[in-house]
Amino acid sequence: MNKTQKICLLGATGSIGSQTLDLIRSAPQNYQLHSLAVAGSNLEKLISIIHEFKPKLVAVKNKEIADNLKLALKHKTEILTDLNLLASDSEIDNIIVAVVGSIGLEPTFIALKNNKKAIIANKETLVAAGELIQPYKSQIIPADSEHVALHQCLAGCQKSEVKTLYLTASGGPFYNSKLDFAQIKPTQALKHPTWNMGPKITIDSATLMNKGLEVIEATVLFGASYEQIEVLIHPQSLVHSLVEFIDGNILAQLGPNDMRLALQYALDWPERKPNLANKFLNLKQMSKLEFFEPDLKRFKCLQLAYQAGKMGKTYPAVLSAADEIAVELFLQERISFAQIPELIEKTLDKHQSQEVNSLEIIKQADKWAREQVYSFL
Ligand code: MG
Repeated sequence: MNKTQKICLLGATGSIGSQTLDLIRSAPQNYQLHSLAVAGSNLEKLISIIHEFKPKLVAVKNKEIADNLKLALKHKTEILTDLNLLASDSEIDNIIVAVVGSIGLEPTFIALKNNKKAIIANKETLVAAGELIQPYKSQIIPADSEHVALHQCLAGCQKSEVKTLYLTASGGPFYNSKLDFAQIKPTQALKHPTWNMGPKITIDSATLMNKGLEVIEATVLFGASYEQIEVLIHPQSLVHSLVEFIDGNILAQLGPNDMRLALQYALDWPERKPNLANKFLNLKQMSKLEFFEPDLKRFKCLQLAYQAGKMGKTYPAVLSAADEIAVELFLQERISFAQIPELIEKTLDKHQSQEVNSLEIIKQADKWAREQVYSFL
């Protein structure tokens, strides 16, 4: 692919969005920001992005933000309040879904139905809508480092040749700590040892829910069963995942722990291009690579994710939505770190599941779960 890729970026001001913009900035001959959407209301940041990248279309949350933005802009950009219009624009080559939450669902499906490539960093799409996304799997490229690793290790092999998928996890800030989970403050949980990410995913890494959601995503993306997926704590975060084949051979993918490498892989696939972050691993300075079994009793969220994934139907959607609210409540210091899995478990227990045969069903389950978590307070 030698032409410039026209990109629709949903979630331009978050962590993944900013790192995507970094790549676009470094290689304007390869990528062009055609359109973008933001879920938040950081107008200053948004204006500077629009002035720098001059996208054709921008979508914001509501009319008030749209009106303020129009007044502040020098560049002639069309401002909309509907993400779906961005996704349905025929000019785009691919969509990067980096918004948090179920807001990413509908535009992703619109882009997929229009035969666009979708780079999905939004967990809800793969976790909650895993069944609906199956017909479009060949158009989806993962953006998460673990799935990018598996995507590379699994290239060219048959499903029947795979024995185990090993997803690695740094373990987050509390893996080796003896801290009482009821006493942990958001500032402590927000300090991730190896990765630089947004607040929701950083808390999810501390509870290991992030890994649980990635396990569900891996079943969707690679057609593996839950019995075939194992999580390994790997504190160095250099091996991003591994595949063990039935003949006993194991392939691992290693690389610097910088999200831009995973995003660039997704953007350039099936080609490989020079590393725009200019980061390379120095194997001679790598002293050790360690792997441990996760403690499922202490990190209950991982276990809950396996359970919800195995139960299927609307359970994964409920897990993901309940987690989103629980994390929000923890960040607002309204619940303790220990209560995050407690509230999610209670919500799952109360849920009456349904078959997932439409986006509407997922949205209903999502809404129900959010309200349910609040009702337990
Ligand atoms: Mg990850």
